[in-house]
Amino acid sequence: MAQRLFQAEAEPANLIIAGGRLVDPAAGFHGEAADLRIADGLIAEIGHDLRHPDAERLDATGLTVTPGLVDPHVHLRTPGDEHEEDIASGTRAAAAGGFVAILAMPNTTPVVDSAAVLAGLVETARAEAVVATGFMCAITRGLDGRNLTEMGELSAAGAAAFSDDGRPVADAGMLRRALQYSSITGLRLALHEEDTALSAGGQMHEGAVSAELGLRGWPAVAESTMIGRDLGIARYEGAGLHICHVSVAESVAEIRRARELGTDVSAEVTPHHLCLTDAAVRGLDPAAAKMNPPLGSDADRAALIDALADGTIDCVATDHAPHADHEKDAPFEEAPFGVIGLETAFAAVYTHLVEPGMLPLQTVIERMSSGPALAFGLPAPGLAAGRTADIAVWDLGASRVIEPPYASRSRNCAFTGRTLRGICRLTISGGRVAHRLIEAVA
Ligand SMILES: [Zn+2]
Ligand SMILES: [Zn+2]
Repeated sequence: MAQRLFQAEAEPANLIIAGGRLVDPAAGFHGEAADLRIADGLIAEIGHDLRHPDAERLDATGLTVTPGLVDPHVHLRTPGDEHEEDIASGTRAAAAGGFVAILAMPNTTPVVDSAAVLAGLVETARAEAVVATGFMCAITRGLDGRNLTEMGELSAAGAAAFSDDGRPVADAGMLRRALQYSSITGLRLALHEEDTALSAGGQMHEGAVSAELGLRGWPAVAESTMIGRDLGIARYEGAGLHICHVSVAESVAEIRRARELGTDVSAEVTPHHLCLTDAAVRGLDPAAAKMNPPLGSDADRAALIDALADGTIDCVATDHAPHADHEKDAPFEEAPFGVIGLETAFAAVYTHLVEPGMLPLQTVIERMSSGPALAFGLPAPGLAAGRTADIAVWDLGASRVIEPPYASRSRNCAFTGRTLRGICRLTISGGRVAHRLIEAVA
Protein backbone atom coordinates (compact mmCIF):
# COMPACT_ATOMS: atom_id res chain seq x y z
CA MET A 1 0.00 0.00 0.00
CA ALA A 2 1.28 3.44 -0.89
CA GLN A 3 2.51 5.72 1.87
CA ARG A 4 -0.12 8.40 2.52
CA LEU A 5 1.37 10.57 5.31
CA PHE A 6 4.63 12.47 4.92
CA GLN A 7 6.83 14.51 7.26
CA ALA A 8 10.35 15.84 7.48
CA GLU A 9 13.17 13.74 8.86
CA ALA A 10 14.10 14.68 12.43
CA GLU A 11 15.78 13.13 15.43
CA PRO A 12 13.48 10.52 17.06
CA ALA A 13 12.49 11.40 20.61
CA ASN A 14 14.05 9.83 23.70
CA LEU A 15 11.97 11.19 26.56
CA ILE A 16 10.21 10.33 29.77
CA ILE A 17 6.94 12.25 30.20
CA ALA A 18 6.74 11.97 33.96
CA GLY A 19 3.67 12.08 36.17
CA GLY A 20 1.06 13.27 33.68
CA ARG A 21 -2.56 12.13 33.79
CA LEU A 22 -3.15 9.72 30.92
CA VAL A 23 -6.42 9.94 28.98
CA ASP A 24 -6.99 7.39 26.19
CA PRO A 25 -10.27 5.49 26.54
CA ALA A 26 -9.28 2.93 23.87
CA ALA A 27 -6.18 2.02 25.91
CA GLY A 28 -8.07 2.01 29.20
CA PHE A 29 -6.66 5.27 30.61
CA HIS A 30 -9.12 7.64 32.27
CA GLY A 31 -6.86 10.14 33.99
CA GLU A 32 -4.50 7.91 35.99
CA ALA A 33 -1.08 9.48 36.68
CA ALA A 34 1.84 7.56 35.15
CA ASP A 35 5.19 7.95 33.41
CA LEU A 36 5.46 7.32 29.70
CA ARG A 37 8.88 6.53 28.21
CA ILE A 38 9.64 7.11 24.55
CA ALA A 39 12.69 5.45 23.02
CA ASP A 40 13.75 6.19 19.44
CA GLY A 41 10.30 7.61 18.73
CA LEU A 42 8.35 4.59 20.02
CA ILE A 43 6.40 4.30 23.26
CA ALA A 44 8.71 1.92 25.16
CA GLU A 45 6.83 1.58 28.44
CA ILE A 46 4.14 3.11 30.63
CA GLY A 47 4.58 2.78 34.39
CA HIS A 48 5.78 4.47 37.55
CA ASP A 49 9.14 6.03 38.46
CA LEU A 50 10.57 5.19 35.04
CA ARG A 51 14.24 6.03 34.52
CA HIS A 52 16.57 5.60 31.58
CA PRO A 53 20.07 7.00 31.01
CA ASP A 54 19.34 8.05 27.42
CA ALA A 55 15.99 9.71 28.11
CA GLU A 56 15.41 13.35 28.96
CA ARG A 57 12.89 13.58 31.81
CA LEU A 58 10.00 16.06 31.40
CA ASP A 59 7.88 16.98 34.42
CA ALA A 60 4.25 16.57 33.40
CA THR A 61 2.84 16.77 36.92
CA GLY A 62 -0.58 18.40 36.67
CA LEU A 63 -0.63 18.00 32.89
CA THR A 64 -2.79 15.67 30.78
CA VAL A 65 -1.29 13.24 28.25
CA THR A 66 -3.50 12.15 25.34
CA PRO A 67 -3.17 10.56 21.92
CA GLY A 68 -2.21 13.27 19.43
CA LEU A 69 -5.00 14.89 17.44
CA VAL A 70 -5.80 14.18 13.79
CA ASP A 71 -7.38 16.85 11.55
CA PRO A 72 -8.93 15.53 8.35
CA HIS A 73 -9.71 18.95 6.87
CA VAL A 74 -7.02 21.63 6.50
CA HIS A 75 -6.30 24.18 3.77
CA LEU A 76 -2.53 24.66 3.48
CA ARG A 77 -2.91 27.07 0.52
CA THR A 78 0.07 25.60 -1.33
CA PRO A 79 0.68 25.56 -4.24
CA GLY A 80 -0.30 29.09 -5.18
CA ASP A 81 -1.09 31.13 -2.07
CA GLU A 82 1.94 30.71 0.16
CA HIS A 83 1.49 34.26 1.47
CA GLU A 84 -1.54 32.82 3.35
CA GLU A 85 -0.04 29.46 4.45
CA ASP A 86 2.38 26.79 3.36
CA ILE A 87 3.38 23.34 4.57
CA ALA A 88 5.96 24.65 7.04
CA SER A 89 3.71 27.29 8.66
CA GLY A 90 0.56 25.17 8.52
CA THR A 91 2.19 22.17 10.17
CA ARG A 92 3.74 24.40 12.85
CA ALA A 93 0.23 25.70 13.58
CA ALA A 94 -1.00 22.09 13.70
CA ALA A 95 1.76 21.08 16.13
CA ALA A 96 0.99 24.07 18.36
CA GLY A 97 -2.60 22.82 18.55
CA GLY A 98 -1.68 19.25 19.50
CA PHE A 99 -2.23 17.75 16.02
CA VAL A 100 0.06 14.91 14.98
CA ALA A 101 -1.50 14.33 11.55
CA ILE A 102 -3.45 16.49 9.12
CA LEU A 103 -5.04 16.05 5.70
CA ALA A 104 -4.76 18.96 3.28
CA MET A 105 -7.48 19.87 0.79
CA PRO A 106 -6.72 20.05 -2.95
CA ASN A 107 -8.46 23.35 -3.90
CA THR A 108 -5.18 25.14 -4.52
CA THR A 109 -3.71 26.89 -7.57
CA PRO A 110 -3.14 24.67 -9.47
CA VAL A 111 -5.63 22.15 -8.11
CA VAL A 112 -4.11 18.91 -6.80
CA ASP A 113 -5.60 16.78 -9.56
CA SER A 114 -2.52 15.12 -11.09
CA ALA A 115 0.27 12.87 -9.86
CA ALA A 116 2.78 15.60 -10.79
CA VAL A 117 1.22 18.23 -8.50
CA LEU A 118 0.84 15.65 -5.74
CA ALA A 119 4.50 14.63 -6.11
CA GLY A 120 5.61 18.24 -5.61
CA LEU A 121 3.62 18.48 -2.37
CA VAL A 122 4.96 15.16 -1.11
CA GLU A 123 8.51 16.32 -1.75
CA THR A 124 7.92 19.58 0.13
CA ALA A 125 6.24 17.76 3.03
CA ARG A 126 9.23 15.42 3.30
CA ALA A 127 11.42 18.51 3.66
CA GLU A 128 9.23 20.85 5.74
CA ALA A 129 6.27 19.18 7.49
CA VAL A 130 6.76 19.01 11.26
CA VAL A 131 3.68 16.79 11.64
CA ALA A 132 2.51 13.95 9.40
CA THR A 133 0.71 15.43 6.41
CA GLY A 134 -1.49 13.75 3.85
CA PHE A 135 -2.88 15.25 0.67
CA MET A 136 -6.36 14.81 -0.68
CA CYS A 137 -6.67 14.95 -4.44
CA ALA A 138 -9.54 16.39 -6.43
CA ILE A 139 -12.54 14.32 -7.48
CA THR A 140 -12.87 16.25 -10.74
CA ARG A 141 -10.14 17.86 -12.84
CA GLY A 142 -9.65 21.50 -11.93
CA LEU A 143 -12.70 21.04 -9.65
CA ASP A 144 -14.73 21.46 -12.84
CA GLY A 145 -17.42 19.02 -11.71
CA ARG A 146 -17.42 17.34 -15.13
CA ASN A 147 -14.26 15.24 -15.64
CA LEU A 148 -13.11 12.66 -13.10
CA THR A 149 -9.45 12.64 -12.08
CA GLU A 150 -7.32 9.50 -12.53
CA MET A 151 -8.12 8.13 -9.09
CA GLY A 152 -6.14 4.91 -9.48
CA GLU A 153 -3.00 6.78 -10.50
CA LEU A 154 -3.45 9.33 -7.70
CA SER A 155 -3.95 6.57 -5.15
CA ALA A 156 -0.75 4.86 -6.29
CA ALA A 157 1.05 8.22 -5.95
CA GLY A 158 0.02 8.55 -2.29
CA ALA A 159 -3.31 10.44 -2.28
CA ALA A 160 -4.97 10.30 1.15
CA ALA A 161 -8.57 10.67 -0.08
CA PHE A 162 -10.55 12.58 -2.70
CA SER A 163 -12.45 15.85 -2.36
CA ASP A 164 -13.65 18.82 -4.42
CA ASP A 165 -13.90 20.79 -1.15
CA GLY A 166 -14.88 24.39 -1.63
CA ARG A 167 -17.41 23.11 -4.13
CA PRO A 168 -20.08 20.42 -4.13
CA VAL A 169 -20.16 17.61 -6.67
CA ALA A 170 -23.32 19.11 -8.16
CA ASP A 171 -24.01 16.43 -10.78
CA ALA A 172 -25.48 13.30 -9.18
CA GLY A 173 -24.29 11.06 -12.03
CA MET A 174 -20.74 12.37 -11.54
CA LEU A 175 -20.95 11.63 -7.82
CA ARG A 176 -22.14 8.09 -8.59
CA ARG A 177 -19.15 7.46 -10.88
CA ALA A 178 -16.78 9.02 -8.36
CA LEU A 179 -18.08 6.63 -5.67
CA GLN A 180 -17.58 3.68 -8.01
CA TYR A 181 -13.97 4.63 -8.82
CA SER A 182 -12.97 5.72 -5.31
CA SER A 183 -14.31 2.41 -3.94
CA ILE A 184 -11.87 0.57 -6.19
CA THR A 185 -8.97 2.55 -4.69
CA GLY A 186 -10.22 2.01 -1.13
CA LEU A 187 -9.89 5.76 -0.49
CA ARG A 188 -12.73 7.87 0.81
CA LEU A 189 -14.62 10.73 -0.84
CA ALA A 190 -14.93 13.78 1.43
CA LEU A 191 -17.86 15.91 0.30
CA HIS A 192 -18.55 19.61 0.66
CA GLU A 193 -22.35 19.56 0.69
CA GLU A 194 -23.96 22.67 -0.72
CA ASP A 195 -26.76 23.11 -3.22
CA THR A 196 -25.52 26.35 -4.73
CA ALA A 197 -28.90 27.05 -6.28
CA LEU A 198 -30.16 27.48 -2.70
CA SER A 199 -27.08 29.09 -1.14
CA ALA A 200 -26.35 31.54 -3.99
CA GLY A 201 -25.61 35.01 -2.65
CA GLY A 202 -25.93 33.82 0.94
CA GLN A 203 -23.72 35.62 3.45
CA MET A 204 -24.80 33.84 6.65
CA HIS A 205 -27.27 31.31 8.04
CA GLU A 206 -30.87 32.17 7.11
CA GLY A 207 -32.83 32.94 10.24
CA ALA A 208 -33.70 35.64 12.75
CA VAL A 209 -30.20 37.12 12.84
CA SER A 210 -29.87 37.38 9.04
CA ALA A 211 -33.26 39.14 8.98
CA GLU A 212 -32.17 41.50 11.74
CA LEU A 213 -28.88 42.34 9.99
CA GLY A 214 -30.39 42.54 6.53
CA LEU A 215 -27.84 40.06 5.14
CA ARG A 216 -28.80 37.52 2.49
CA GLY A 217 -29.52 34.19 4.22
CA TRP A 218 -28.28 30.71 3.37
CA PRO A 219 -31.02 28.18 4.19
CA ALA A 220 -30.26 25.00 6.14
CA VAL A 221 -31.70 22.90 3.30
CA ALA A 222 -28.85 24.04 1.01
CA GLU A 223 -26.73 21.58 3.01
CA SER A 224 -29.15 18.91 4.21
CA THR A 225 -30.82 18.15 0.87
CA MET A 226 -27.41 17.51 -0.75
CA ILE A 227 -26.40 15.27 2.14
CA GLY A 228 -29.65 13.31 1.78
CA ARG A 229 -29.07 12.92 -1.95
CA ASP A 230 -25.46 11.79 -1.60
CA LEU A 231 -26.11 9.34 1.23
CA GLY A 232 -28.87 7.80 -0.86
CA ILE A 233 -26.51 7.34 -3.81
CA ALA A 234 -23.77 5.91 -1.55
CA ARG A 235 -26.23 3.46 -0.04
CA TYR A 236 -27.39 2.38 -3.50
CA GLU A 237 -23.78 1.85 -4.61
CA GLY A 238 -22.75 0.17 -1.35
CA ALA A 239 -19.95 2.74 -1.14
CA GLY A 240 -18.71 4.81 1.78
CA LEU A 241 -18.36 8.57 2.04
CA HIS A 242 -17.34 11.31 4.43
CA ILE A 243 -19.43 14.45 5.00
CA CYS A 244 -17.40 17.60 5.60
CA HIS A 245 -18.28 20.35 8.12
CA VAL A 246 -21.86 19.42 9.08
CA SER A 247 -23.48 22.63 10.29
CA VAL A 248 -27.27 22.30 10.76
CA ALA A 249 -29.75 20.09 12.62
CA GLU A 250 -31.44 18.94 9.39
CA SER A 251 -28.12 17.46 8.22
CA VAL A 252 -27.64 15.61 11.50
CA ALA A 253 -31.05 14.02 10.99
CA GLU A 254 -30.05 12.83 7.49
CA ILE A 255 -26.79 11.30 8.77
CA ARG A 256 -28.48 9.66 11.75
CA ARG A 257 -31.07 8.06 9.45
CA ALA A 258 -28.35 6.86 7.04
CA ARG A 259 -26.44 5.24 9.89
CA GLU A 260 -29.63 3.48 11.00
CA LEU A 261 -29.96 2.15 7.44
CA GLY A 262 -26.41 0.82 7.56
CA THR A 263 -24.80 3.36 5.22
CA ASP A 264 -21.00 3.58 5.49
CA VAL A 265 -20.80 7.26 6.46
CA SER A 266 -18.36 9.29 8.50
CA ALA A 267 -18.87 12.96 9.26
CA GLU A 268 -17.08 15.92 10.76
CA VAL A 269 -18.04 19.10 12.60
CA THR A 270 -15.82 22.13 13.18
CA PRO A 271 -14.99 23.70 16.54
CA HIS A 272 -16.58 26.98 15.40
CA HIS A 273 -19.89 25.30 14.60
CA LEU A 274 -19.75 23.48 17.97
CA CYS A 275 -18.90 26.57 20.01
CA LEU A 276 -20.47 29.58 18.24
CA THR A 277 -23.75 30.53 16.58
CA ASP A 278 -24.93 33.08 14.03
CA ALA A 279 -25.16 35.56 16.92
CA ALA A 280 -21.39 36.00 16.36
CA VAL A 281 -22.15 37.56 12.97
CA ARG A 282 -23.62 40.63 14.73
CA GLY A 283 -20.04 41.92 15.08
CA LEU A 284 -19.94 42.03 11.25
CA ASP A 285 -16.27 40.98 11.30
CA PRO A 286 -15.73 38.68 8.32
CA ALA A 287 -12.32 37.57 9.66
CA ALA A 288 -14.05 36.01 12.65
CA ALA A 289 -17.56 35.12 11.54
CA LYS A 290 -17.79 34.56 7.78
CA MET A 291 -17.31 30.95 6.79
CA ASN A 292 -18.76 28.26 4.53
CA PRO A 293 -20.95 26.68 5.78
CA PRO A 294 -22.09 29.57 7.98
CA LEU A 295 -22.55 29.49 11.76
CA GLY A 296 -26.03 28.14 12.57
CA SER A 297 -28.70 28.75 15.19
CA ASP A 298 -28.72 27.71 18.85
CA ALA A 299 -30.79 24.66 17.86
CA ASP A 300 -28.28 23.72 15.18
CA ARG A 301 -25.42 23.98 17.66
CA ALA A 302 -27.29 21.80 20.18
CA ALA A 303 -27.95 19.16 17.51
CA LEU A 304 -24.28 19.11 16.49
CA ILE A 305 -23.17 18.62 20.11
CA ASP A 306 -25.67 15.77 20.57
CA ALA A 307 -24.48 14.16 17.33
CA LEU A 308 -20.85 14.36 18.41
CA ALA A 309 -21.74 12.89 21.82
CA ASP A 310 -23.60 9.87 20.42
CA GLY A 311 -21.18 9.24 17.52
CA THR A 312 -23.53 10.21 14.67
CA ILE A 313 -20.71 12.65 13.91
CA ASP A 314 -17.44 10.81 14.55
CA CYS A 315 -14.86 13.53 13.81
CA VAL A 316 -13.99 17.09 14.73
CA ALA A 317 -12.20 18.88 11.85
CA THR A 318 -11.00 22.46 11.79
CA ASP A 319 -11.57 23.39 8.12
CA HIS A 320 -8.53 25.62 8.81
CA ALA A 321 -8.92 28.19 6.00
CA PRO A 322 -6.29 30.94 6.01
CA HIS A 323 -6.93 34.23 4.21
CA ALA A 324 -4.75 37.32 3.83
CA ASP A 325 -5.64 40.35 5.95
CA HIS A 326 -6.28 42.50 2.87
CA GLU A 327 -8.93 40.03 1.68
CA LYS A 328 -10.71 39.78 5.01
CA ASP A 329 -10.41 43.53 5.66
CA ALA A 330 -13.49 44.19 3.54
CA PRO A 331 -17.23 44.73 3.96
CA PHE A 332 -18.91 41.52 5.17
CA GLU A 333 -20.58 40.87 1.81
CA GLU A 334 -17.30 41.11 -0.12
CA ALA A 335 -14.88 39.16 2.10
CA PRO A 336 -14.01 35.49 1.37
CA PHE A 337 -15.35 32.61 3.49
CA GLY A 338 -13.19 30.80 6.06
CA VAL A 339 -11.41 30.92 9.41
CA ILE A 340 -8.19 29.38 10.71
CA GLY A 341 -8.52 26.84 13.50
CA LEU A 342 -5.57 24.54 14.11
CA GLU A 343 -4.13 26.42 17.08
CA THR A 344 -7.46 26.89 18.88
CA ALA A 345 -9.46 23.74 18.04
CA PHE A 346 -8.89 21.72 21.19
CA ALA A 347 -8.97 24.72 23.54
CA ALA A 348 -12.25 25.95 22.02
CA VAL A 349 -13.95 22.58 22.38
CA TYR A 350 -12.49 22.07 25.86
CA THR A 351 -13.59 25.52 27.05
CA HIS A 352 -17.06 25.56 25.47
CA LEU A 353 -18.09 21.90 25.80
CA VAL A 354 -15.93 19.97 28.29
CA GLU A 355 -15.60 22.53 31.09
CA PRO A 356 -19.38 23.25 31.21
CA GLY A 357 -20.03 19.49 31.38
CA MET A 358 -21.66 19.11 27.94
CA LEU A 359 -19.18 16.49 26.68
CA PRO A 360 -16.68 14.23 28.50
CA LEU A 361 -13.00 14.85 27.76
CA GLN A 362 -12.70 11.19 26.68
CA THR A 363 -15.29 11.69 23.93
CA VAL A 364 -13.58 14.82 22.67
CA ILE A 365 -10.23 13.03 22.50
CA GLU A 366 -11.79 10.14 20.54
CA ARG A 367 -13.54 12.47 18.08
CA MET A 368 -10.36 14.50 17.54
CA SER A 369 -7.92 11.57 17.27
CA SER A 370 -9.01 7.98 16.57
CA GLY A 371 -12.32 9.09 15.00
CA PRO A 372 -10.82 10.95 12.04
CA ALA A 373 -7.93 8.48 11.75
CA LEU A 374 -10.28 5.53 11.38
CA ALA A 375 -12.61 7.41 9.01
CA PHE A 376 -9.71 7.85 6.58
CA GLY A 377 -7.95 4.53 7.13
CA LEU A 378 -4.97 6.11 8.91
CA PRO A 379 -3.20 4.63 11.94
CA ALA A 380 -4.99 5.80 15.11
CA PRO A 381 -2.72 7.40 17.72
CA GLY A 382 -2.80 5.59 21.07
CA LEU A 383 -1.05 5.41 24.42
CA ALA A 384 0.30 1.86 24.37
CA ALA A 385 3.77 0.32 24.50
CA GLY A 386 5.13 -0.54 21.07
CA ARG A 387 3.20 2.21 19.27
CA THR A 388 4.81 5.11 17.46
CA ALA A 389 4.73 8.15 19.75
CA ASP A 390 1.87 10.35 18.47
CA ILE A 391 1.12 12.26 21.63
CA ALA A 392 -0.13 15.60 22.92
CA VAL A 393 0.41 16.96 26.45
CA TRP A 394 -2.04 19.60 27.74
CA ASP A 395 -2.21 22.09 30.56
CA LEU A 396 -5.97 22.05 31.12
CA GLY A 397 -5.72 24.53 33.98
CA ALA A 398 -4.06 27.27 31.96
CA SER A 399 -5.97 29.80 29.90
CA ARG A 400 -4.97 32.52 27.48
CA VAL A 401 -6.49 35.29 25.42
CA ILE A 402 -6.42 34.22 21.78
CA GLU A 403 -4.62 36.86 19.73
CA PRO A 404 -1.93 37.20 17.05
CA PRO A 405 0.80 36.40 16.36
CA TYR A 406 -0.27 32.90 15.33
CA ALA A 407 1.98 30.13 14.05
CA SER A 408 -0.28 30.22 11.02
CA ARG A 409 0.65 32.82 8.43
CA SER A 410 -2.94 34.16 8.57
CA ARG A 411 -4.97 35.73 11.38
CA ASN A 412 -8.63 35.19 10.47
CA CYS A 413 -9.54 33.32 13.65
CA ALA A 414 -13.10 32.98 15.00
CA PHE A 415 -11.79 33.02 18.58
CA THR A 416 -9.59 36.13 18.44
CA GLY A 417 -10.12 38.18 21.59
CA ARG A 418 -11.76 35.30 23.46
CA THR A 419 -10.23 33.56 26.49
CA LEU A 420 -9.79 29.81 26.03
CA ARG A 421 -8.58 27.23 28.53
CA GLY A 422 -6.23 24.36 27.56
CA ILE A 423 -2.70 24.97 26.31
CA CYS A 424 -0.71 22.38 24.39
CA ARG A 425 2.72 21.96 26.03
CA LEU A 426 4.13 19.14 23.89
CA THR A 427 3.32 17.50 20.56
CA ILE A 428 5.14 14.42 19.30
CA SER A 429 4.28 13.36 15.74
CA GLY A 430 5.64 10.17 14.22
CA GLY A 431 8.04 9.89 17.16
CA ARG A 432 9.45 13.39 16.55
CA VAL A 433 9.01 16.39 18.85
CA ALA A 434 7.03 18.92 16.81
CA HIS A 435 6.12 21.46 19.52
CA ARG A 436 7.51 21.88 23.00
CA LEU A 437 6.75 24.30 25.85
CA ILE A 438 7.93 22.14 28.73
CA GLU A 439 11.20 22.06 30.65
CA ALA A 440 13.44 19.10 31.35
CA VAL A 441 14.03 18.11 34.98
CA ALA A 442 16.81 16.15 36.60
ZN1 LIG B 1 -15.95 22.95 2.41
ZN1 LIG C 1 -12.62 23.33 3.56
